[in-house]
Amino acid sequence: MSDANTPVAIVGAGPTGVLLAILLQRRGYRVTVYESRPDPRSAPSESGRSINLALAERGLHALRHAGVLDALRAATVPMRARLVHERDGRTSWQAYGSRPNEIIHSISRSHLGLRLVEIAAAHGIDLRFEHRLLGADFVKGLASIRDLRRDRLLEVPMHPLIACDGAGSKMRQCLGGQGLITVREEQLDHGYKELAIPALASGRYALEREALHIWPRGEHMLIALPNADGSFTATLFLANQGAPSFASLRTNALIGEFLDTDFADVVGLMPRRIEQFAEHPNGLLGTVHAAPWHHQGMVALVGDSAHAIVPFHGQGMNCCLEDCLVFEQCLSRHDSWEARFAAFYAARRENTDAIASMALENYVEMRAKVVDPKFQLQSALSRELERRHPDRFIPRYSMVMFHARIPYQLAQRRGSEQARLLADLTANAAHFGDIDLARADLEVEARLAPLDQDLASVKNV
Ligand SMILES: Cc1cc2nc3c(=O)[nH]c(=O)nc-3n(C[C@H](O)[C@H](O)[C@H](O)COP(=O)(O)OP(=O)(O)OC[C@H]3O[C@@H](n4cnc5c(N)ncnc54)[C@H](O)[C@@H]3O)c2cc1C
Repeated sequence: MSDANTPVAIVGAGPTGVLLAILLQRRGYRVTVYESRPDPRSAPSESGRSINLALAERGLHALRHAGVLDALRAATVPMRARLVHERDGRTSWQAYGSRPNEIIHSISRSHLGLRLVEIAAAHGIDLRFEHRLLGADFVKGLASIRDLRRDRLLEVPMHPLIACDGAGSKMRQCLGGQGLITVREEQLDHGYKELAIPALASGRYALEREALHIWPRGEHMLIALPNADGSFTATLFLANQGAPSFASLRTNALIGEFLDTDFADVVGLMPRRIEQFAEHPNGLLGTVHAAPWHHQGMVALVGDSAHAIVPFHGQGMNCCLEDCLVFEQCLSRHDSWEARFAAFYAARRENTDAIASMALENYVEMRAKVVDPKFQLQSALSRELERRHPDRFIPRYSMVMFHARIPYQLAQRRGSEQARLLADLTANAAHFGDIDLARADLEVEARLAPLDQDLASVKNV
């Protein structure tokens, strides 16, 4: 690369900003990261915002590539299945994959952030905490960043500046506000609230440890992910308006009645459930569509700032980490920042659109379909077809979560054809034994091209 050793500014020290900084610094760029929050190495972690995250193969692959995965392993808890809790107290274990390594991992957001920052510092990256991006002058090519500790305004050259400042990106706002890109933010009419389930007095987990727990209740749901310290973080996803909703649950009596009725088998594990509900903030959820993600060779949006999605596929951060890998590939294939940014956008846009819509669909799957006998029958058939035709049939969930080499857009496309196939094959079946597997074999061969053939035809970088 001809321009290695040139300075690059990154705004945002979330997973995207720090991983990208590590990859760029490794390639010889001189990276400075500006982050509005205090340094996590000296500040206590912020609570109230999704305390743990599901890490899947795309994220693992990117972290492995950057050489940072081993440092994170100790803080992860494997989740092998969905453990579905029905209203009547019955539970069902729905394995995520068909192979032992097809699992996802719960990781604490604060631990991930802290370890990445420590690794970035060890790489010699210039990390400037308590520095907030306030605006940008695209004529002069300067970003205004306030040093909050010294109360000084800095003018930072954007040659280039990469904005990894998250779903509420200030840089996206500036670009959109000046008509340099188009921005559409679709807020979901459901939000979320976190509720803690501490470890038992013995230090043991109060629920099965190696699972992502779901209490599907049709229009809303509660989920819980394990933390390494024996606790779980539960998240309630609920409508913002209507009944029941965050707006309708206004009194302690209404909150208590709602929790005790809908989540009877778990409320006993949530101390101060009503106080937690009243005290913890409501989070907003939505999807960001921006086009393009860059302005000339000056500024690029990467990660949630470009394409935030709803969290129901557990892919937001995984997708952002994959962004960093693709961005790195674009560096070596093009000489100018403008060409690199354009190539990055071209490579990612259809893929991030695909995961955005799959994530929305997954909300319905998690809050309603997982208890539907037809869904369960089709899941069982999916696993059988994968066993019989591993080169052609991989359940869509597995393509997204466990197969980093399958781009999201291909997972979506093949997933749609597979869904039609499963619907046809189970149309008149109530039990697995009712399914005509000989016909299924023929249909798979006829309707699904070998995966490798499709992989060869999709655009990557
Ligand atoms: C409830 C919930 C659950 C989720 N669960 C999962 C999951 O299980 N798996 C998964 O893969 N993803 C999950 N996600 C998505 C994941 O959190 C995001 O995709 C990921 O954090 C995006 O990383 P990022 O670095 O792009 O942005 P962020 O993590 O938002 O980081 C942006 C950084 O920029 C800083 N910043 C913002 N504005 C400025 C400014 N003006 N100046 C300087 N710095 C600034 C912020 O302080 C922050 O540190 C979830 C999201 C939510 C809301």
